[in-house]
Amino acid sequence: MMKLLINSIYKATEGEGIHIGTPQIFIRFQGCTVGCLNCDSTDTWDFDQANEMSLESVLDEVYSIAGNYPHQLKRLSITGGDPLHPKHVPAVLELVKRFKRDGFYINLEAAGTRVIDEIFDSIDFISFDFKTPSTGVKTNPELIIKLAKQYQNKFQIKSVVADERDFDAAYAAYNFVAERVTRETQIPWVITPCYDLGEDFPKERFSEIISLNEKVGGLFRVIGQQHKWIHGPDKKQI
Ligand code: SF4
Repeated sequence: MMKLLINSIYKATEGEGIHIGTPQIFIRFQGCTVGCLNCDSTDTWDFDQANEMSLESVLDEVYSIAGNYPHQLKRLSITGGDPLHPKHVPAVLELVKRFKRDGFYINLEAAGTRVIDEIFDSIDFISFDFKTPSTGVKTNPELIIKLAKQYQNKFQIKSVVADERDFDAAYAAYNFVAERVTRETQIPWVITPCYDLGEDFPKERFSEIISLNEKVGGLFRVIGQQHKWIHGPDKKQI
């Protein structure tokens, strides 16, 4: 029987990126080895067997949440942890197959470390991280070129930006990609101003990042994490 490592399954309204404000059901995988320095979900890092769930119980839980709504909530976000870690890939493929058969819209939050065609071909939307220097992790910009060429109209790049150095890294990567794709290719890229755990709302950081984006002609969309404005930066499953 297939076992999945799951941190949590819950309904919430998307708080960031271009689908902000859209209610969906989150399936959060347990287990990540990427190691971002500013990770706000370190509780998802361990591949802890205590989080094992059978495929059937994951399906049951999602359908039970979806069924609470008059027209069913058939919108999923598969996230983590790192849902594309090789240990999770067979389970993600199986979930995608089952939920697509039932007409769900599926977004996947990818950590920016790998593109897996078999999954990306089958889902509706890919949110792909470009990791900035403050995360201590590097994203290969060639992966973004591949996404832009292969998955036009169904992806966004997301970068958490803490300061000007992060912004400059995202800008350099944007230019690297733009120079290697056709002029018509869209590169939807969202800058998420960093809002750390335990921090008061970083108003000045937001303003500075908005100004930096205006100076480069608005290449990016600057979108904050709405759920943190409402509930504070520490609350989970909201
Ligand atoms: S990829 Fe996501 S869960 Fe993993 S360390 Fe980075 S921010 Fe945290």
